[in-house]
Amino acid sequence: MKYGVFSDIHGNYEALKAVLDDMDSQGVEDYICLGDLVGYGSDPGAVLDTVRDLSSIIVAGNHDYGIAGYLSLSYFNRYAREVARWTQDQLSDEQLTFLSNLPLRDENSEAVFVHSTIESPELFEYVLTAYDAHVNLKKQTRTVSFHGHSHVPVNFLLNEAVSHNQDSVVSVGESKKAMVNPGSVGQPRDGDSRAAYAIYDSDEEKIEIRRVKYNIDKASEKIQKAGLPKILGERLYHGK
Ligand code: ZN
Repeated sequence: MKYGVFSDIHGNYEALKAVLDDMDSQGVEDYICLGDLVGYGSDPGAVLDTVRDLSSIIVAGNHDYGIAGYLSLSYFNRYAREVARWTQDQLSDEQLTFLSNLPLRDENSEAVFVHSTIESPELFEYVLTAYDAHVNLKKQTRTVSFHGHSHVPVNFLLNEAVSHNQDSVVSVGESKKAMVNPGSVGQPRDGDSRAAYAIYDSDEEKIEIRRVKYNIDKASEKIQKAGLPKILGERLYHGK
């Protein structure tokens, strides 16, 4: 099976559309979303509906729960807080309920999916170091897991010890366990402005991180037109 695994879309419909087109061209058969559908971007409703229609699994991100009212907005920086309040006004009650019902962790027969950590997904902590990864890999019930949240693609691999790299292709059959962050669709933060996502080919035991150019001008313009903080459009050009 070829899975398109994507995370942190953050209301950026232009980036999402480009990623879905790329998935189509790559023969993706199933779609899995690691959360943060909304927050920061100008198209929360369109992103939510599109992701909901096609994904077999969607887990909750901290922005999804914040906007749904599950998580205090005081955890967010002032820009995220401002957009969260604006997003609440843009979404219908039904869409907000959908966000509040998303699970924190899900899995299928081949992998585990979370927004933050496997160990305590409700805390929305980051997996940044080999130590963080080791704690989670011990709890990982499948060979492969995917997480988002940091907006930076990275592969943590458990063999004798945990190693990590930012290779764009990982052979998961060569490791005992792999824990992969596919990066962010709608607000990459690794200095590369292109949208990021992963293709997990479970038959080939291979994960590929792909980068896709999209219309940043349009996404940025729409953020300004919506009256959201200008910096949220500007940062898209810098990938941070
Ligand atoms: Zn995010």
